[in-house]
Amino acid sequence: MNHKVLQIFYQIKKLTYIVSIILFSNCSISQNTKEVSTKYASTITAKELSDHLYIYASDEFEGRDTGEPGQKKAVDYLKNFYISQGIESPINENDYFQKVPASYMNTLIRSGALKDSENVVAYIKGSEKPEEIIIVSAHLDHVGVNEEGEIFNGADDDGSGTVAILEIAEAFKKAQMESNGPKRSILFLHVTGEEKGLLGSRYYTENPIFPIANTIANLNIDMIGRIDEYHKENPKYIYLIGSDKLSTELHTISEEMNKKHMNIELDYKYNDDNDPNRFYYRSDHYNFAKNNIPVIFYFNGTHEDYHRPTDVPEKINYEQLENRARLIFHTAWELANRKDRIIADKVEKN
Ligand SMILES: [Zn+2]
Repeated sequence: MNHKVLQIFYQIKKLTYIVSIILFSNCSISQNTKEVSTKYASTITAKELSDHLYIYASDEFEGRDTGEPGQKKAVDYLKNFYISQGIESPINENDYFQKVPASYMNTLIRSGALKDSENVVAYIKGSEKPEEIIIVSAHLDHVGVNEEGEIFNGADDDGSGTVAILEIAEAFKKAQMESNGPKRSILFLHVTGEEKGLLGSRYYTENPIFPIANTIANLNIDMIGRIDEYHKENPKYIYLIGSDKLSTELHTISEEMNKKHMNIELDYKYNDDNDPNRFYYRSDHYNFAKNNIPVIFYFNGTHEDYHRPTDVPEKINYEQLENRARLIFHTAWELANRKDRIIADKVEKN
């Protein structure tokens, strides 16, 4: 073999090597997209959820009654968290509060003596379709202190949903910092005045920060840290309400993400239109559903400490809180990253 032939031989060998590297890396990219959400979901941990909740549902926050000093401490906690994580506000730099005026709330309720309050908002801007929004929501308020001075800590209601959002937001932020940010935007919406009559979420839908027409789904979390009497034996469950009411696609995606990543028992008992509890109408997602935005309401059912001073962080099942928060993360991830926005193929009846 002469020198020239040898040179060509080495050139071909080099080329084959480069081609194989390109092929291999392409292949590993397509494999990685399947795993990439799992990596960020794993940053949502029972430990961090617990750390947040022991503060958020502590006596210091005085039951987070709408407009009262304890609720103001709660919103500061949320704001400081977002600043510490470098997660932006969609309003203005370092302005994470959407003011919900007392005058607005007091016209809607009978005992109209509420003080000014606020929703807390933070967001991750989408990399490809920033104008399309997925809202992950939970109410930041609870029922305060009773006449005997007992504090209603509201660890499950809705400290659990609140801290789940913090962890979900942190996971999306990590993804964004590693160039895996969501294609669509995600708004983390902590609403006030839920316990007074879904006031903060109503205010948001009437004064949306992003147009309602561009809001493609609302995943609302209200009580996901406890186990109800029907699931004592098999605590890996969650009730889903509303997922199939406005968008068949949303329901399918939710089921698929669960099967692929979590394998939680999805219980649809309270999704029945004839269920006497009417939970579908009783938390903040309903203000979005009213506007024909597809919703999923995540809920653990009621328990003996519901709306009692004994709804405390010690009674939370952090392992299941972690599972449920991860499920919501995976569902939000898919909604934010899939090629086409989901379609609402049905309309709200009421
Ligand atoms: Zn609640």
